[in-house]
Amino acid sequence: MKLGIIGGSGLYEIDGMEDIRENLIETPFGAPSDVLISGFLGGQEIVFLARHGRGHLIAPSEINYRANIFAMKTLGVTHILSVSAVGSLRERMCPRDVVIVDQYFDRRRTAGNDTFFGDGIIAHIAFGDPTCAELAGIAAVAARESIEHSDDPSRHVHNSGTYVNMEGLAFSTKAESKFYRECGFHVIGMTNLPEAKLAREAEICYVTVAMVTDYDSWHPDHDHVTVEMVVGHLNANTVLGKNIIKQTAAALKNIPRQCNCCNALKSSLISNLDLVPAERKAALAPIIGKYI
Ligand SMILES: [Zn+2]
Repeated sequence: MKLGIIGGSGLYEIDGMEDIRENLIETPFGAPSDVLISGFLGGQEIVFLARHGRGHLIAPSEINYRANIFAMKTLGVTHILSVSAVGSLRERMCPRDVVIVDQYFDRRRTAGNDTFFGDGIIAHIAFGDPTCAELAGIAAVAARESIEHSDDPSRHVHNSGTYVNMEGLAFSTKAESKFYRECGFHVIGMTNLPEAKLAREAEICYVTVAMVTDYDSWHPDHDHVTVEMVVGHLNANTVLGKNIIKQTAAALKNIPRQCNCCNALKSSLISNLDLVPAERKAALAPIIGKYI
């Protein structure tokens, strides 16, 4: 098993990795956000990618999600932990809390590149439960243990939550933010839904570890929040996020993979593969190779 880490805002590197290699990967879909850093963390093989690039130069709508997930698959990644900064839509999900996301809602306008399929080969993956429950369980335990050993044990881990994926770059208006609350959503971000979809197509276990940096604009305190406060939360979350990654890597070694993520395409590939153009089959070989 190989653990991929996709780091969002504030998380651009992992401490304590050994045997580090920088992998510059080209995919049929173009280049990933940055080089993928592979190596070992506590004896577990991991691959790290900074979602926005290491200097945070790539906007959510500019991220080449297909290249990012394809590159992870090429390197043999079986599980992806997405550690992502989010806004909270719920009073009880406070800044510095951790939400293990189990649903997403798409609010983007430009969702054109969320699939490896089309163009001569079709697959309809099941996406009713968009995250891996098994990996989510491991991440939740890792988050709790990390908080217990941190300097702020009062932080909470929420075992489920719906992530509304807005487009950005600006944050929500109050009207939007209140609407999302009425819809029953819990946290808001700009990036994780396409990753989850592509990971499922690539038969990779995926979960979002959402780290709350602030309340979205619905909250009465929102207007009084200073940049210093948000940066303080972001930095604290980065420290905690790195510990959650370490704990997850340690736990993953000891838990056999029993979920069904690795068979996601088995009954989803609908095209007659004999009739799929050879160049499409070749391009998608890391994803569909075992079915050809
Ligand atoms: Zn899984």
